Amino acid sequence: MKFTLPYWYDLHTHLRQEDLLEPIIRSQADMGCAGFLAMPNTKPPVAKVFKSDDLPYWSIEEYREMIVKSGGGRFIEIITPLYLTKDTTPHMIEKGAKAGLLKACKYYPPHGTTGADFGYPFLNYIENGVFEAIRDNNVTLCIHGEEHHLPPEHYFDRGGNAEEIFYKERVPALLDAYPDIRLACEHITTKCAVDLVLSAGPTVAASVTPQHILYTVGHLLQGLQYHLYCLPLVKFQEDRTAIRAAVTDPYNTKFFAGTDSAAHTVKATECGCAAGCFTGGIAPQLYAQGFEDAGVDLSSLEGRRIFENFLCHVGRNYYGLDKPDQVFTLEKRPSDVQALSTPAGDIIPLPLGLGNPKLNWSLSL
Ligand SMILES: [Zn+2]
Repeated sequence: MKFTLPYWYDLHTHLRQEDLLEPIIRSQADMGCAGFLAMPNTKPPVAKVFKSDDLPYWSIEEYREMIVKSGGGRFIEIITPLYLTKDTTPHMIEKGAKAGLLKACKYYPPHGTTGADFGYPFLNYIENGVFEAIRDNNVTLCIHGEEHHLPPEHYFDRGGNAEEIFYKERVPALLDAYPDIRLACEHITTKCAVDLVLSAGPTVAASVTPQHILYTVGHLLQGLQYHLYCLPLVKFQEDRTAIRAAVTDPYNTKFFAGTDSAAHTVKATECGCAAGCFTGGIAPQLYAQGFEDAGVDLSSLEGRRIFENFLCHVGRNYYGLDKPDQVFTLEKRPSDVQALSTPAGDIIPLPLGLGNPKLNWSLSL
């Protein structure tokens, strides 16, 4: 079984910086990416728009230059969201959007995940006018939707984990204030988030990672498979069922591919584990596996249409990106997974970390 697909946009990925930038960009190109949304949680974060802005952060201008220098010039579109911090102002949003440099902003819960140390509580941005400026300038607000600063006993509570609390309380407050804001709910993991996205208007959509289609928290816990440790955490079977139903819906217009591929040269230490699964180079193969696990028959025309819609069209339409001319091929033939070697050390892709050196699918450009 073999079929071609148009190049696709990875609408949430981490390219990192310095020695990692070039190999990671190459891994994006290796999997048929036409472009991507490159997350701003670098060190320092990308939290200002222009080089000349007087703030101690990288600017969108500078990070884009670094990406282009490291091989990013071959992609149709690179979106670099602005990391929202306590220093973000409505004026910055307006000026950046008018200059055409600012297309998206990223909300991180303070200290909520890798590189989220500069985040500022969500509701403050309603009070200080930043979300209003985002709405007024038609900028997309990308959110890492998890409640921050929960005590450990409530972080993964049966009655409501960090993501559920966020989608039950914070997002409705945002949508009450700005019902037509462009809101990209990133890497959603719960039925609760799926339901909110489905019930919201057309400006609200969501990205889904391969691991949240493939796995549950049981896969993480059985044998403590720390390579599957990412945030938000993989959840329960009921959640995975809701996510699978959303991405495989024949009429899906809201759920799209965003790998959240996140490279770590050191994943686990003696006192903790970095959050993020690396799926660069292999995400379409993993998504195809996830769709098959969800019951989609990729040997049928309709099955392939549903898969292509999720991978190649929904997100591109949502962000208004150009339709790529190039195509790549997916074939149901086992392929090897290899570590990505970088000058900073090897990066272990998720399947290898889970002890699977083979994928069921092969990709060729
Ligand atoms: Zn991410």
